Amino acid sequence: MNAAPKTLRHLSDLQAAGLTPQAKRAALEQVATQYAIAVTPAMAELIDATDPDDPIARQFVPDTAELNRQPAELADPIGDHAHTPVEGVVHRYPDRALLKLTHVCAVYCRFCFRREMIGPDAEPLSREKLDAALDYIAAHGEIWEVILTGGDPLVLSPRRLKSVVARLAAIPHVKVIRVHTRVPTADPLRVTPELVAALKTAGKATYVVLHANHPRELTPAAREACARFVDAGIPMLSQSVLLAGVNDDPKTLEALMRAFVECRIKPYYLHHGDLAPGTSHLRTSIEHGQNLMRALRGRVSGLCQPSYVLDIPGGHGKSPIGPNYMSYDDAGRARIEDFNGARHCYPPEACPQPR
Ligand SMILES: *Cc1c(COP(=O)(O)O)cnc(C)c1O
Ligand code: SF4
Repeated sequence: MNAAPKTLRHLSDLQAAGLTPQAKRAALEQVATQYAIAVTPAMAELIDATDPDDPIARQFVPDTAELNRQPAELADPIGDHAHTPVEGVVHRYPDRALLKLTHVCAVYCRFCFRREMIGPDAEPLSREKLDAALDYIAAHGEIWEVILTGGDPLVLSPRRLKSVVARLAAIPHVKVIRVHTRVPTADPLRVTPELVAALKTAGKATYVVLHANHPRELTPAAREACARFVDAGIPMLSQSVLLAGVNDDPKTLEALMRAFVECRIKPYYLHHGDLAPGTSHLRTSIEHGQNLMRALRGRVSGLCQPSYVLDIPGGHGKSPIGPNYMSYDDAGRARIEDFNGARHCYPPEACPQPR
């Protein structure tokens, strides 16, 4: 009988699973000293080891291309550090703050924007630091929403999560608790009724935002895990990262967004790839991203449309980066582009129709 499959954390595990070649071992050892590795059984099972371009492998299996660090890439690509008033809190926008309880994740994404900060060996937020973080939130009446992120907050035990959620819920001005996670796809069996119950609290709204990038990640088990949240009255949103060779073609992106909506998950953000170190092989151009968004708008239900956003390096926050459907002609008249790409004058009487 086989033992229960384990998360692959070492190059020897990956090699034994046929996911990395011996020929690249030395270079991959270098990658492994810099960036954490974890491929859960649920994700390993999805990888077709005979496909050198497998979109699941591209997300989780270390690649020697990660050693190629570009001058434009930054250790803290979205400028978290500039907005960290106390350890564990990132307060960039007035009405919402991040609370990072742990630096551990179920899987380690090769494109992670916090890859320099996260990993299994990073210290979790101590009891004293958590107290200080909650004091900060309690002292800032403008914080309406707290976003639990990390790391992945859902690697914590239901007991620990329940305690943090209860303490947040006790702060009167905090009305919304949002959880950013990959656990429902990476490790669906962690989403137990106890875990779901731990996130719910009377009088406050909890939202769960699932990070997934390829439709194959939404396996039957992952869909069941998501249904446990939604059936319990926790609305779900999605975030995806636009990744070259993973989801940067119209068909895959469409299938991903449809899969979310089928699971009652409203697509929220499509992130342009951040300037994380050693990730240039996974980034696309913004123009390519805009073209994909146009293709999506032209083909797919409005429910399936995320916002395409860029986190501006330096800590300036996220901004939508198009595409833009409104332009002006030489006479200064507004033109609106329709889903087929045709342009229309607005208001219509401003431009007489050609007969
Ligand atoms: C992304 C992010 C948020 C959440 O932004 P939304 O646009 O509300 O999803 C909040 N704070 C920080 C620091 C962030 O990076
Ligand atoms: S789950 Fe999120 S924080 Fe963790 S490695 Fe992936 S992108 Fe980074």
